Amino acid sequence: MASSLIRIDGVTKRYGTTLAVDNVSLDIQTGEFFALLGPSGCGKTTLMRLIAGFETPDSGSIFIDGVDMAGVPPNRRPVNMMFQSYALFPHMSVARNISFGLRQAGNGKTGLGKADIETRVRDLLRLVQMEGLGERKPEQLSGGQRQRVALARALARRPRLLLLDEPLAALDRKLREETQFELMQVQRELNVSFVIVTHDQDEAMAMAQRIAVMRAGTIEQLGRARDLYEAPVSKFVARFIGDINLFDVRVTNGVDGEPMIVSAAPPFSCRGIAGATTPGEDIAIAVRPERVKMSKDKGALPPSCDVVFAGEIADSAYLGDTQVWRVKADGGGLVRVSASNSGGGAETFERGHRVHLGFDRAAMQALTR
Ligand code: ADP
Ligand code: MG
Repeated sequence: MASSLIRIDGVTKRYGTTLAVDNVSLDIQTGEFFALLGPSGCGKTTLMRLIAGFETPDSGSIFIDGVDMAGVPPNRRPVNMMFQSYALFPHMSVARNISFGLRQAGNGKTGLGKADIETRVRDLLRLVQMEGLGERKPEQLSGGQRQRVALARALARRPRLLLLDEPLAALDRKLREETQFELMQVQRELNVSFVIVTHDQDEAMAMAQRIAVMRAGTIEQLGRARDLYEAPVSKFVARFIGDINLFDVRVTNGVDGEPMIVSAAPPFSCRGIAGATTPGEDIAIAVRPERVKMSKDKGALPPSCDVVFAGEIADSAYLGDTQVWRVKADGGGLVRVSASNSGGGAETFERGHRVHLGFDRAAMQALTR
């Protein structure tokens, strides 16, 4: 069974009147890849700095391996933090950049002599796929290589936990994706816990075993990517993770007393939606675009659709692997629809086409906040 490496217990941090981290509790397991995801200013960096010991909580406690970290300085914690701007020392070689922390610590602290340091640097260069580049200067490296040197440097003292604050933000998209896979491989190989901060939901979903979605200093939802995508607890999470339709609906009493939801735009109603049980309540219904079925022929929609309405294609975007449309429903409301381009005789839809849309009860999720 996995054991908790980090336990964050009711931690609060204020800067003046700003509540940067608001009573957060959270466990991170040994060897886990964990992501903090949220918009700018929601407290991600502050939470990391609290774990690393660069900030002190106003209240609450942080335990590492069961030991209360109150009063323990950053260099005495089995934690390292790779900052958003991971500046390398420009005048030092790659190897010396990597070994910097080992030499700083002195032989006494790391117990490493010159030969051991050289061995460790070589191992780290191999780990980040930069063998033979130890004598280069940072200016002789590409952006991706610099990022990998920074990673090697952060891992040099073998922390139990590595905190990575937006580590890939400076890389272009293609390089970012490659580096994501490398990071995952390094993390698995070393069995170090990684906590990565990102505002990019794709990045968090691709890499992390669990994701905490943060909002205004609090954790709005914590779970696996699949949980957050398929069962968001709020409109905030639903919007933040993936593409979504959010329809404003009113819960009413159906003729037989069973609660039903009624949407004005697009116009539809449906009974038996889990979580939509309080007549008079205004809630949102979330439907992922890929769960909306679309056809020019109403009869060709799957019979499982509990809701069907008509509209006209307002625009379409071809994204290579998928296609996305916005459909203006008769009676009002825009609906996003997506389908994968996996081939196989699919209908084609273009701006101006008349279509019928449908989805089933299971695709509808009631969100009360
Ligand atoms: P994120 O990393 O999610 O963008 P931060 O943790 O950096 O967010 O910031 C959370 C909030 O705390 C923001 O409102 C930010 O302006 C404020 N904040 C962060 N650091 C400081 C500081 N040193 N002094 C004052 N306010 C700060
Ligand atoms: Mg930040």
